[in-house]
Amino acid sequence: MSKKAKHIAAGIGIAAAAGLGVSAVRAATTFKPDKVDESQKLAPEKVDVQRYIDHLSRAIQIPTVSYRDVEKVDWAQFDAFHTFLKEAYPLIHEKLELQIISRKSLMYHWASEHPEREPIALLAHQDVVPISEGTEGDWEHPPFGGEVADGFVWGRGALDIKNHLIGVMEAVETLLEEGYVPERDVYLCFGHNEEVMAEEEECGAYCMMSWFRDHGIRLDSVIDEGGAILPVHIKGLIQRNLAGVGIAEKGHVDFEIAVTGKGGHSSAAPKHNALGELAKMIVNLENHQFKEELTPQLWALFNAIGRNVSYPARIVTCNLPLLKPLIQKVGVSIPQSASMMRTTTAVTMASASPAPNVLPQRAAAVANFRIMPGQTIDDVEKHIRKYCPGAEVNFIKGNNPSQISPTDSRAFKAIADICQKMGPENIVAPYLVMGGTDARNYEPVCDNIYRYSPFLVSTSLLMTTHGTNERIPVDSLEDGVAFFKRYIRALTAD
Ligand SMILES: [Zn+2]
Repeated sequence: MSKKAKHIAAGIGIAAAAGLGVSAVRAATTFKPDKVDESQKLAPEKVDVQRYIDHLSRAIQIPTVSYRDVEKVDWAQFDAFHTFLKEAYPLIHEKLELQIISRKSLMYHWASEHPEREPIALLAHQDVVPISEGTEGDWEHPPFGGEVADGFVWGRGALDIKNHLIGVMEAVETLLEEGYVPERDVYLCFGHNEEVMAEEEECGAYCMMSWFRDHGIRLDSVIDEGGAILPVHIKGLIQRNLAGVGIAEKGHVDFEIAVTGKGGHSSAAPKHNALGELAKMIVNLENHQFKEELTPQLWALFNAIGRNVSYPARIVTCNLPLLKPLIQKVGVSIPQSASMMRTTTAVTMASASPAPNVLPQRAAAVANFRIMPGQTIDDVEKHIRKYCPGAEVNFIKGNNPSQISPTDSRAFKAIADICQKMGPENIVAPYLVMGGTDARNYEPVCDNIYRYSPFLVSTSLLMTTHGTNERIPVDSLEDGVAFFKRYIRALTAD
């Protein structure tokens, strides 16, 4: 059999195994990865990689750690960070206007000749999470050493998110060196307490948004942390990088669910006391998960990956709509993918009687929910009341999910276009961010909010975020700055 015939035969076999017809094979021949036009290749971008490494290293050495308890925060470190930035980026400090907003947030304004055009904003946060007590010794290089070794810059903030903040500064400083003049205003907004989910009036990002709102300024677009470029390498199937651009983020809420009982001595126990009743409710809640949904964003993601797997596997991936029930079933059985398909339920804390021989007068549990865009905290409360009838339900803390930003805006198109041209192996796809970012605060002044850090980082490295041995590959830095330079130019050129 010829190679081509073998190919087709294998395709028909796979189609049959997946319950698809021969037409599926035909469909797969038109369902192909987007070809990158070589003639559109980008001109090389000037990036001083050594300077970036040095600056990132120095930024990591300043422990701008944030704590929920503001009394614990060493604000002098933030002042030191500001001083470092002034010294490291002389042109930015000469040409851009800087104001400190809220306690220590930084807002740089790069004015253009066109104040009437909606400005763009590039976001990042200065703060980092602390090192968990007792794990300091587990680091191969000290967490605040900023050491450069084995091809990495090591330390807290290397991935979250001083890499991004310093990358933006490098890009702007270099554009200024090159004499670039934006035809639209640019703001750089660096919050100081992203990691602690501060209340509105305490939150640096919220206060910066309020400044825009108070000045009647609407933003064309916002780009912040949240997505990254992940290598998706499966032998024989796919050898690409997935650039996930966060167009929305989940919300979260904690509720207390409580049951009261008579109490008394354990020797005269009823069949079910308050704790037993609560346990039944928890099980009922777990058995009634929120309904899963294959959202349009998730479809777009599947589609983007599906287009790029090798033939004959493409016969399956080009027919995803036919396989929807199967995908839904498999997806929801894996916690990581289920979290992209529904509001998740996790009962995490519980309390009842203070002693072994005392019946509880009150049993309470705390449940944490991660809310899908389209649902709200109120929906979660209704859901709890439905499956825990008679329980006391108390709201503790939460945030509704973000809005969903469009994928046809100038900013999204620029991100996708630059990313694809920078690497023909990059697949760009919209994506739902699981955690919270500063970006959501900007919704009152901006419709086009994207969460994307242009750094190629493996999934295992990403796991060091907030953990031990956080580090970034030196190799990924150049493209990061090149991306930001191109992004700023694409959105602010005439
Ligand atoms: Zn972060």
